[in-house]
Amino acid sequence: MAVVSLGISDLDDSNVYLVTGSRNVLIDTGLARNPQELTAKIRSSLRGLPLDMLVLTHCHADHVGGLKAVVEEFGCNAYAHQEDAVHLRRGDSSFILDTVFGFRLGGYDVQDISDGEIIDLGEHRLRVIHTPGHTRGSICLYDEVSHALISGDTLFVGAIGRTDLPGGSFSDMVSSLRSLRRFDIKGLYPGHGMHVEQNGRDYLDEELSMFGGVNNEDFEV
Ligand SMILES: [Zn+2]
Repeated sequence: MAVVSLGISDLDDSNVYLVTGSRNVLIDTGLARNPQELTAKIRSSLRGLPLDMLVLTHCHADHVGGLKAVVEEFGCNAYAHQEDAVHLRRGDSSFILDTVFGFRLGGYDVQDISDGEIIDLGEHRLRVIHTPGHTRGSICLYDEVSHALISGDTLFVGAIGRTDLPGGSFSDMVSSLRSLRRFDIKGLYPGHGMHVEQNGRDYLDEELSMFGGVNNEDFEV
């Protein structure tokens, strides 16, 4: 799958992915402590193509810090599930956690995206899957063509997202992870840490089989 990981400059930052096709979609922005560096990296990865959409896996600051910079630089719309988009529109720091990272995002115009929606990029078809648990409006994106899952902070390679932050729910997380079992997951592209290009489904099954040992402190915001 043509997912380009744009890399991160800070350890506490999220991954940023660019999926290219007949339309080009950026998934999350990271903290973007240096917005010019982020937009330059996106521009060079696009190689002259336009950026058509920004999709946010959830509302946390370490995933949306570059929202304003990306939208203004590329003139694209930003999308998040309505349960998290509402916090982004209001600039609600108690859910966005921007002040935890030392800045104020402010309210921003983010459009709603819904469970089951398909983002058709030609060679990729990204299905929006609502996976509450880490936040109420967390989503994963599943490419029906390459069977890759972009999993935000729901599922990592070797861990799951924490559920003790505002809007988090462990029982919702378990249901969401179970619901992902209906997909044949090959590549797994999480919101933090490494990604894998094969056997993503094994990491899901591993987490589902060990909920008893979950220690929230180990998980990413
Ligand atoms: Zn998060």
